[in-house]
Amino acid sequence: MRGLPAVHRLLGEPAVAAYGALLGGVALTRLAREVLDAERARIRDEGGAPAPHAELVARLLTRLADEESAGLVAVVNAAGVLVHTNLGRAPLAAEALEEITRIGAGYSNVEFDLREGVRGSRYERVNALLREITGAEDAVVVNNNAAAVLLVLDTFAKGREVVVARSQLVEIGGGFRIPDVLRKSGCALVEVGATNKTYLADYARALTPETALLLRCHTSNYRIEGFTHEVGAGELSALGCRVGIPVVEDLGSGTLVDLTRYGLPGEPTVQQVVEAGVDLVTFSGDKLLGGPQAGIVVGRRALVSRLRANPLLRALRVDKLTLAALAATLRLYAQPDALERIPLYHLLARPVERIEALLESVRARLAGRIAADLRVEESLAFVGGGSLPTTTIRSRALAVHPHHGDAETLALRLRENRPAIVGRLEGNEVLLDGRALRDDDVEAVHDALARILG
Ligand SMILES: *Cc1c(COP(=O)(O)O)cnc(C)c1O
Repeated sequence: MRGLPAVHRLLGEPAVAAYGALLGGVALTRLAREVLDAERARIRDEGGAPAPHAELVARLLTRLADEESAGLVAVVNAAGVLVHTNLGRAPLAAEALEEITRIGAGYSNVEFDLREGVRGSRYERVNALLREITGAEDAVVVNNNAAAVLLVLDTFAKGREVVVARSQLVEIGGGFRIPDVLRKSGCALVEVGATNKTYLADYARALTPETALLLRCHTSNYRIEGFTHEVGAGELSALGCRVGIPVVEDLGSGTLVDLTRYGLPGEPTVQQVVEAGVDLVTFSGDKLLGGPQAGIVVGRRALVSRLRANPLLRALRVDKLTLAALAATLRLYAQPDALERIPLYHLLARPVERIEALLESVRARLAGRIAADLRVEESLAFVGGGSLPTTTIRSRALAVHPHHGDAETLALRLRENRPAIVGRLEGNEVLLDGRALRDDDVEAVHDALARILG
């Protein structure tokens, strides 16, 4: 037992000490004690000499890495999914990050009217941008799109009926199911149509004195194809207008630009849905908008005013950093040619030849120097984030076939790297898709492969 090092000797190792800033000295000491206690218990039970110093350090480093990954860790997204909910959805534009730093470092007029010197609204600037970009009369921003839907239902439909097409009763990831959300909001769901076909007459027949809303939901993550019919936003809005019942559309991703310019199918934009006459449109801030997590509702002034007057808004509101980042992102939409400063659109616009060149540079530098076969091959990436579920984007992947051990182990080592690298497994290869890789990420991939397989 006397051969075991003292706690402070383990803590003095540079690789261990490097975790001090991340985890704090108390956690470091606790974990070092745990490693030594475990070794003491082992010697007591099994006898024999203590593990060598380097081995104890290695064990401590594993514990430290585990502890660290319980917090947020930067990830290189080589999964080939641009808006990956598990990987934090949209990366933020430099402009948004600068604004977070500028506003977050000090005080701001978040709820202060600088002209009058009195309490003001935190939403004014972002609302003005949303009105300008979407053409809607007014807007409100909450914590996420789920909260936006909840706020709309609570404001207009509590204790009343909401009519939804059967084909649109979607479940988003994380247990967000339209029927459950309606029930939670105290609304009665009135399903209309068949799974594949819904007509305007189905909605019209479902109307009762208790009908509060006509709700359209974007079928974000699935497609019903073949013998189908849906009622368009314009048609449903005309019905709503005639009978005096608001029409709401949960647009999910809510793109603000025509995606066909990136070779993607034409998703209805927020502007088009507003133009079609839908009274309230809800969408996410961190899907195809490419901003921070937020839920946005745009629509008619009188209806948005009622949302704003709902006491629930206080519980769903966003903080100043989100507002700062959202406003900065929206400003890029309001400027000509600034769209590709939003990382998502930069990555979507990047020619496949450029991705090939980036991956090829990694392959050429590592070829023959690491214990793996490397190949740059064709790949198909996805937009993700519950949008365009069946649409693929041309891409390239670096296929890594390790000489020793299996691909699962390599994938694990890549995830343990910092930044962590998340790819796809296919057979006995790890595929690292280049579509979502930023230029810096390419170097991180090179360095990780050199270290792990070198
Ligand atoms: C993603 C999505 C939501 C949930 O949005 P969050 O911003 O994740 O809360 C709700 N409805 C639809 C149709 C979606 O695609």
